[in-house]
Amino acid sequence: PNADKNIYGNSRLNSPIEMSEFLTNHNINNQPHNTRNTRGSGVLRIPQYSLSQIKFLEELGEGAFGKVYKGALKKDGETQFVAVKALKENASAKTQADFRREIDLISELNHDNIVCIVGVALREEPLCMLFEFMARGDLHEFLMGRAPPSGKGLPPMRLLNIAHNIASGMHYLASHHYVHRDLAARNCLVSDDFVVKISDFGLSRDIYSSDYYRVQSKSLLPVRWMPPESILYGKFTTESDIWSYGVVLWEIYSYGLQPYYGYSNQEVISMVRGGELLAAPTGCPVLMYSLMRDCWKHTSHRRPNFEEIVNRIQEWIQNGGCPEAAASESSGSVCGHRPT
Ligand code: ADP
Repeated sequence: PNADKNIYGNSRLNSPIEMSEFLTNHNINNQPHNTRNTRGSGVLRIPQYSLSQIKFLEELGEGAFGKVYKGALKKDGETQFVAVKALKENASAKTQADFRREIDLISELNHDNIVCIVGVALREEPLCMLFEFMARGDLHEFLMGRAPPSGKGLPPMRLLNIAHNIASGMHYLASHHYVHRDLAARNCLVSDDFVVKISDFGLSRDIYSSDYYRVQSKSLLPVRWMPPESILYGKFTTESDIWSYGVVLWEIYSYGLQPYYGYSNQEVISMVRGGELLAAPTGCPVLMYSLMRDCWKHTSHRRPNFEEIVNRIQEWIQNGGCPEAAASESSGSVCGHRPT
């Protein structure tokens, strides 16, 4: 392990590995399997604006399609803040198609914990998607900014609510047969009133009529969030999203540390294949860690589903917090201790 590496990682550049490299190393057939691609053209249902109605304010970040800006949208005499995802000028035909696909996909979804598209501007270039503005930015940065000892941390109930918000959004996605495939704190956004919403559907796939989807070449793989079956066979399902959700819980309770920090992507792949799990974050309630471990069951059907997860966290919230309880099962090994 390279202990010098930034423990927070670089969420955009450091964590995924090149899909082509992965496929070569793992001899995976990269053909999609029976994916249904018959969703309606959601774009027709979203309000269309002209660029003259959008004032571009500061840059918020860089996404898969190009820059993301804070914008002020003028409509019906009012101004609303939005996040503007502008498609970069020299986008390839594939990126343009992905951009439109993301519009179609996200316009079908409507839930309090899924970031909402409020409009598009597709009549002139740059083509833009307009999202509700999430004032506190992405969850990874939000957590890092509060990490003790320099930060004050967050109240236990706030952490539980974040976990609950994400589980609710994922339960909605799963019940609509969507597999996100890239659930991570960096892909969740935080609103002004601390509501967390899932975003970044670039990798998500509708698997309504198929068992699984094998990723296509050239995608980037977030290996630190992936279960053994995704790493080994390129299999992405709701159960693999549940594993990723467990890693997101780990990110929440470790205030944005990079999962398996200090280990390279190739080392992480061997660790996950060998059944080594992440250790409990400092100060994490035992039952919360036990929920993480349930999400990381090697056999995918043994993992709890999102409905059970929502209910478990809901109960803790109703009872005033996640109770400290006797230690849970101790099977499997944790990060840093290879199985014997
Ligand atoms: P993409 O999905 O196109 O890859 P991202 O969603 O990752 O792009 O956006 C890049 C960055 O822009 C994010 O990390 C976040 O900081 C910011 N951002 C994206 N959407 C919003 C939003 N709705 N509100 C506020 N900031 C946002």
